[in-house]
Amino acid sequence: MKKTAICLLALGLVFGMGATVNAECTCKANEKTGSGWCTDCKHGLCYGVEVKNEDLYKALAGTKVDAKALKCEGCKAVAEKGGTCDHCKITYANGMSYGSFVSAALCCGKMTDPATIKCEACKGAAEGKSEGAYCDACKAGFVGHFAFATKTAYDAAKGAMKVLANAAKTCATCPTCAKAMVTNGTCDKCKATYLNGEKKKA
Ligand SMILES: [Zn+2]
Ligand SMILES: [Zn+2]
Ligand SMILES: [Zn+2]
Ligand SMILES: [Zn+2]
Repeated sequence: MKKTAICLLALGLVFGMGATVNAECTCKANEKTGSGWCTDCKHGLCYGVEVKNEDLYKALAGTKVDAKALKCEGCKAVAEKGGTCDHCKITYANGMSYGSFVSAALCCGKMTDPATIKCEACKGAAEGKSEGAYCDACKAGFVGHFAFATKTAYDAAKGAMKVLANAAKTCATCPTCAKAMVTNGTCDKCKATYLNGEKKKA
């Protein structure tokens, strides 16, 4: 009898330890990269923006590309060197595919720790202290902690970030609308169609 009790106690300890290991969720790792979904907390980050809905997160997150499995010729042509398939409206970059125009614009940004930035103007922009602008001296424009190498990429990223922030907020009222916002889709519930983040007039 006593032996069983000790056994149970030992088992409990083992399981208890297992639980503490699981409690170490992926949120911390996600914060480092600025993107990721934590299944434990049901909490996500996309390019540094807090996303609380898994559907919205999935719409924004990229998928690893298996170039051999692609059927569309347009996709095949751009899958490896990067670019957008005009037919499917899917963007390929760094071996990933993105179905959202928001991610397509933001995925080329380089996560940069503001502490490592020497230029005052760029540092201020990365820290969110100033609106920011494309910096000719650094050949970079910052949107959040992400650096964009060309003015065109920077401008696109800036627009995309506005849509992303708006979608993250809209999530609280209608997650389907939020998802439609970032994918140029339609919310059947609200009968709303979105184009480039804006509601289309019916
Ligand atoms: Zn977490
Ligand atoms: Zn395609
Ligand atoms: Zn600069
Ligand atoms: Zn809706």
